Amino acid sequence: MIKIPIDLAATIYLIISVCILFMWFILEKKRRYIEIKKEDTLWSCPLCFYEYIDSKSKDISRCPRCKTLHKKEEK
Ligand SMILES: [Zn+2]
Repeated sequence: MIKIPIDLAATIYLIISVCILFMWFILEKKRRYIEIKKEDTLWSCPLCFYEYIDSKSKDISRCPRCKTLHKKEEK
């Protein structure tokens, strides 16, 4: 068996733990960014200039303030 000093083993263990945590953090951040970009779309009403997030609609959305339907291109 290979003998490893306890301080070296502790250091390796710490480095591995930090690496896993760091990777998890990056993946979580990336995942959240994709989710926000995919689902939440920021809409701005051309009539009342009200800005809101509509995750259901893609092309046509109803403004929650003045209740008018408008396309995404209309800004
Ligand atoms: Zn509106």
